[in-house]
Amino acid sequence: MSTAAPITETKSTCCYCGTGCGVVIESNGVGITGVRGDPDHPANFGKLCTKGSTLALTMSLPAQAGRARYPEVRANRDESRARADWKPTIDNLAERFAATIREHGPDSVGFYVSGQLLTEDYYVFNKLVKGLIGTNNIDTNSRLCMSSAVTGYQQTLGVDAPPCSYEDIDHAQCLFIAGSNTAYAHPILFRRIEAAKEKNPALKIIVVDPRFTETAAFADLHLPILPGTDVALFHGMLHVMLWEEWLDRDYIAAHTEGFEALRSIVREMSAAVAAEICGIKADDIITAARWFAQSPATLSLYCQGLNQSSSGTAKNASLINLHLATGAIGKPGAGPFSLTGQPNAMGGREVGGLATTLAAHRDIANAAHREEMQQLWGIDRISPERGKTAVEMFEAARKGQIKLLWIVCTNPAQSLPDLTLVQEALRTAELVVVQDAYRNTETAAFADVLLPATSWGEKEGTVTNSERRISRVRTAVGAPMEARHDWQIACDFAQALEQHLRPGKPSLFAFATPEAIWNEHREITRGRDLDITGMSYGMLDANGPQQWPFAEGAANGKTRLYEDGKFCTANGRAKFFAQRYIAVAEKTDARYPLRLNTGRMRDHWHGMSRTGNVARLFGHAAEPRLSANANDLARRGLKEGELVKLESKRGAIFVQVQGDDSLRSGQVYLPMHWGKRFLGGKDSAGVNTLTVPTFDPISRQPELKHAAVKIAAADLSWHLTAFVSCTDNEIDLFDQLPAMQSEVAFFSSVLMGREQPGVLVRAAHHGAPSAKWLAALDTLLGLDSENTLRYDDTRHSSSRRMLIDADRLIAVRLCGPAGAITSGEWLREWLLAEKSIAEIRRLLLSPATHAPSGFVLGGRVVCQCFNVTEETIILALGEMRGSHLEHDQRLQQLQQQLKCGTNCGSCMPELRQRVAKSNPNKHVEAA
Ligand code: SF4
Repeated sequence: MSTAAPITETKSTCCYCGTGCGVVIESNGVGITGVRGDPDHPANFGKLCTKGSTLALTMSLPAQAGRARYPEVRANRDESRARADWKPTIDNLAERFAATIREHGPDSVGFYVSGQLLTEDYYVFNKLVKGLIGTNNIDTNSRLCMSSAVTGYQQTLGVDAPPCSYEDIDHAQCLFIAGSNTAYAHPILFRRIEAAKEKNPALKIIVVDPRFTETAAFADLHLPILPGTDVALFHGMLHVMLWEEWLDRDYIAAHTEGFEALRSIVREMSAAVAAEICGIKADDIITAARWFAQSPATLSLYCQGLNQSSSGTAKNASLINLHLATGAIGKPGAGPFSLTGQPNAMGGREVGGLATTLAAHRDIANAAHREEMQQLWGIDRISPERGKTAVEMFEAARKGQIKLLWIVCTNPAQSLPDLTLVQEALRTAELVVVQDAYRNTETAAFADVLLPATSWGEKEGTVTNSERRISRVRTAVGAPMEARHDWQIACDFAQALEQHLRPGKPSLFAFATPEAIWNEHREITRGRDLDITGMSYGMLDANGPQQWPFAEGAANGKTRLYEDGKFCTANGRAKFFAQRYIAVAEKTDARYPLRLNTGRMRDHWHGMSRTGNVARLFGHAAEPRLSANANDLARRGLKEGELVKLESKRGAIFVQVQGDDSLRSGQVYLPMHWGKRFLGGKDSAGVNTLTVPTFDPISRQPELKHAAVKIAAADLSWHLTAFVSCTDNEIDLFDQLPAMQSEVAFFSSVLMGREQPGVLVRAAHHGAPSAKWLAALDTLLGLDSENTLRYDDTRHSSSRRMLIDADRLIAVRLCGPAGAITSGEWLREWLLAEKSIAEIRRLLLSPATHAPSGFVLGGRVVCQCFNVTEETIILALGEMRGSHLEHDQRLQQLQQQLKCGTNCGSCMPELRQRVAKSNPNKHVEAA
């Protein structure tokens, strides 16, 4: 009898948002068995949100079903990929790249990498492209996320260096949160904000967001500006500060330049004018300006609401203007603090892994910087031409200018705007190489060559979080089958390519370990603003994560930048950025009257290639839903849950709709996560089918957060709902489902369940699809066996299938005319509850709308840690009705009774809102 292997613990870092929380990974030598927060990590002090705390589940058997485990290659596009060996695959790729570079020049190839890569991976790819191939055509998905933050800092403070630290949240007296639903996107930082408010009730919190998010619900002042009007708001605030003389004139005189030019621009942007543009009250702008300017310490936190915009640089820089004008920078609790969306967007920025930058904050356009890098790398030339940025790179591929595309650890067929064009680019490129840990992403479907990469828990290296803190990432378990580390794949390919491009010369890529790569990167930072020559792997291991700059000889890194008022500009002065407000790229009109906003869900991350494999993470938001104001729905005669057609100038998708009072009339909202893997149809590739590719002229970041759209009832007469409970071995059926999209207008598939995973499918079409299609779906769902219960009404194209094992429902498929499927929801919950069918046997094949009395639908899971549903919370709060308890007392009672919100705390904002709604006559306390 075998005994269980002892559990070992490995300190590492979470692989989701840029907060960069420390984790302790528990493993048994074979697999990862648990994850908890690292109490010693200064980013989170032991706390993790729902995403971080479920990381171990992403490494479990069902969630690993879609892993890439060995190289796959296809000889031509009519064939499927077949298993291949590493050596010939890499050699063939090197030959193909060398031939293309010889024939068409180095700019005929492009590399699209990722903020999920470790710094060491990123460094090698950047050196490969800029140092060996001789093009700057390497860009990253951070272009979609952070590039406006980069240019915002560069244009004002001189370099891309966030000046603040997380501990500034504890010192701030005014928090100005703009374009960030921190409660969802950076939950552990939000825990810190909650704690700061509790400790200091005088802390003023202002939230600028078109939606009344859970972050906004926590604010003292919410400014629900119209999408894209941030610059008008910031200019309006500065106008008020000027008028009221709430400025720090001494700071402006001593440490800045360009204020006069800015003043002439904001002169015309009075509070009244800004209020008109932003759609908010002028008095609220005045209040925000007063709190911002008069607070002893104002800290701004901002994210995609500012960045993902056609004026992203102006939005970032106009907010930084306010800090410079009030001297709120370089002191505890004050400064403009951009929150990064990815685990290592910062590391990518440090190594210069963008088409527009060189390593260690050097500039491609600067000949001296190019010369420095040539010497450091021992090469003859770095191209002076800026490379193609994300949207441009795929546009160049679509036009045939970029012939070979290498995509690493990212999913552009899900995340880039205007996906119809992106798909065209992926089909037009002569060769698409996808290097990824997963083979089931939307982009992997286009790969001619798939290279399997290791993932979180299997890799070693470093990452940098939002506060410039470098943390170690460590290996807890071995690579699955033939997967290799990203830096190894890059080095193997680079060395093979060197045989063609610089034969006989010593290799530039003779790295044996990630540490060797990091040491080279470290040396390149010497003397730069981000100098890390005082750090080493050994020091990070011994002393824990450290902030840069940390030059050789320094005792520690810097918590805060610009404390002396000296900036990284030629004359040491910060520069005010003077640009007028410009409206969103695509304005609404009579045909497309609604504004589509996109954003994040609480429990999923970006393209869901990892979180989308864990069934319980669908508990909070079970399936794709478009949120809309109830008045907009009523005006169009649309009902809750109804399938609608959502259309922009670039395409249309079908999606269910829900009323949402967090939105003002005229706006709709759809999470950014829902790509074709989860939400599609024959002409739809998910949310980014609709979005706009227009980008900011300086940062080149696209405007993913605003598109003009229209909605109408879906004219699809035939509907289907199906759900099936799966064993761990059956869950790979989930990845076969998207292939069913090719014949129907709408097809959505998501995971469901908690301990026992399952799959939920919805489809709709203009009339019934072919019997062959339906039979194929039944086969996939296991509904083709002899034991399947069947009901058919061919006259109405209506049928039902059910599979029962013992007395439990295993699978259900219902289809027929729109509106005829009424029993789906309660039957699904019956299946998930694993209840006996004895009492519902007679209802099984009838269209029973309601569950038997006494069966309470659980609804959404609000608290993931203790599986507490919305319904349970509503019932518990209902029982408190009539009591004289204050909000905070109700919240405490709720927590004691149900345990919700007592572990990771990610549900606290929602619990607080639920308490407030259940007790509307009481004053809202910050619990
Ligand atoms: Fe990971 Fe959550 Fe921390 Fe972000 S806040 S790093 S997702 S645990």
